[in-house]
Amino acid sequence: MAEIIKHDLLILGSGLAGLRAAVEASIQTSGKINIGLISKVQLMRSHSVCAEGGTAAALRPEEGDSPGLHAWDSVKGSDFLADQDAVSRFAEIMPSEILQLDRWGIPWSRRLDGRIDQRPFGGHSFPRAVYAADKTGFFEMQTLYDNLLRYNNFKRYDEWFATKLIVEKGEFKGLTALNMANGGLYLFCAKALLIASGGAGRLFGFTTFSHSVTGDGIAMAYRAGLPIKDLEFMQFHPTGLVPSGILMTEACRGEGGYLVNSKGERFMDKYASKLKELAPRDIVSRSSMTEIEEGRGFKEPSGLDFVHLDLRHLGADKINERLPLIREVCLNFLNLDPIDKPIPVRPVQHYTMGGIHTDINGAAPVKGIWAAGEAACVSLHGGNRLGANSTAECLAWGKIAGAEAAKWAVSGGAICEQEAKNAVPEEEKRIFQDILKRSGKENVYRIRAEMRETMDKNLGVFRTEESIKSGLEKIKELQARFQQASIQDKSRTYNTQLIHYLELDGLLDLAEILVRGALQRKESRGGHARRDFPKRDDDNFLWHTIAKYTDKGPEFSTLPVSITTWKPVERKY
Ligand SMILES: Cc1cc2nc3c(=O)[nH]c(=O)nc-3n(C[C@H](O)[C@H](O)[C@H](O)COP(=O)(O)OP(=O)(O)OC[C@H]3O[C@@H](n4cnc5c(N)ncnc54)[C@H](O)[C@@H]3O)c2cc1C
Repeated sequence: MAEIIKHDLLILGSGLAGLRAAVEASIQTSGKINIGLISKVQLMRSHSVCAEGGTAAALRPEEGDSPGLHAWDSVKGSDFLADQDAVSRFAEIMPSEILQLDRWGIPWSRRLDGRIDQRPFGGHSFPRAVYAADKTGFFEMQTLYDNLLRYNNFKRYDEWFATKLIVEKGEFKGLTALNMANGGLYLFCAKALLIASGGAGRLFGFTTFSHSVTGDGIAMAYRAGLPIKDLEFMQFHPTGLVPSGILMTEACRGEGGYLVNSKGERFMDKYASKLKELAPRDIVSRSSMTEIEEGRGFKEPSGLDFVHLDLRHLGADKINERLPLIREVCLNFLNLDPIDKPIPVRPVQHYTMGGIHTDINGAAPVKGIWAAGEAACVSLHGGNRLGANSTAECLAWGKIAGAEAAKWAVSGGAICEQEAKNAVPEEEKRIFQDILKRSGKENVYRIRAEMRETMDKNLGVFRTEESIKSGLEKIKELQARFQQASIQDKSRTYNTQLIHYLELDGLLDLAEILVRGALQRKESRGGHARRDFPKRDDDNFLWHTIAKYTDKGPEFSTLPVSITTWKPVERKY
């Protein structure tokens, strides 16, 4: 029988959302709460550490910015699918979060007068991205972890892989996880669980996301019966380095970089005459794709045709000071110096707008479970997230949900050891018998590669009924073949093949939800652009998609969008 580990509060994920939640739970309880922090990678390797360009907040009322303006930009950027009460709360909280991190010691980049600097970002009508050079996420993670260390109330479970969420009668009971170092399965029992397990970028092949970002928490929540919201909305960032997909941060354009086609034209003039390169990402990505598809891109032998991101006019000093990581990556990966040469880029998968459905406090509709960060869908980003709003969301809802979960853990929740224990034998059998011992001719990595090719090809920047249906057919085929997939490595210690199998199991579920959701949304909104339905259709589709697990596949319903202040209008940039 699996060993039982108990905590007051369990946090699944040690990225920005998880760490911010852990710090807040500690503050709210004066360090009295006992926290378990689970991560399948070493804490500082969570994808958040890769965030580059900045974190949005309306810091400068005296210069004309305001939380109201930040909220409006985000709502318009979301193509009016964001919940406006959530957006307003977010924009109000963010300035104090930035100052809080400042007091906790983060080295924000500063103006000459010593005040915190802000750079322009896409879709923001004010320079609103607070940054630490182009390594913002790295410094935010360090600062939060540093501060968590002031409390002696948490235990890290690094390189532990959560496999199953145990929910019964609408209540959280426990979570099972594999200790990757010894291969044992353990049962975690806690009064509250906060899921901060990140997005599902690795559904796609061409993505900016780390290999670990495989949507496990969303998939686990789905299988446990929690509603999954708006998964058809994936963000494509305009500037992924070709051919690797590494992100060339939006700060490149925020600092003044141009996008140029093979005819030497700064083509964004045509598509967004006012904001040009700094229009929201969905618009810039569609524009770049259109240039490429209409033959004004540069040819790449791999087929990943591209356009140019030109920084040369910024000069060496600015590039070295503001974009040192970008220069380093270009030199290391392409032997190309952006001071002298334009960078080859094309749209790349970059963000999961959908996720686990939560209310405005980050609570999932199951007693004892909260979700925050990219795994959650509150919904702040609606159909399209603005740049710099995601690290900001992790801070805002890390704080909100962390406090709520802590409150529940110290006052209301109970540990349900017995009920949780009952669910464990089945999970042990699934992993150690059914999966590990199975023989079958299919290869996990082949299926994973085909899934990613399918998503890249059929569910990318532009979609059509035909491409989506062909995607669905392929995903159904892969799900069937996955039943015959076997694992050659039968050992227990650091069995990464087993981990990749479990990740793929969840990813195939998420792929199906995404594809079916995209098929039924017969309109274009934000990151979901259908060539056969090129317009947004508020009469028929101004709602959130909800998917719930059944043995026959996802069952869909809808939820209304919270519209408190701004009626949907045409987006013009
Ligand atoms: C290259 C890049 C640059 C970016 N730049 C910016 C930017 O400048 N500004 C901005 O606002 N946003 C940016 N983003 C987006 C932003 O960084 C992410 O959306 C955000 O950091 C996600 O944080 P998170 O805490 O939700 O999840 P993550 O940081 O992804 O952390 C997820 C955690 O969950 C754990 N986990 C997952 N599954 C399991 C499992 N099965 N078992 C155990 N643990 C598990 C992981 O180990 C990890 O600790 C960028 C993203 C990328 C990829």
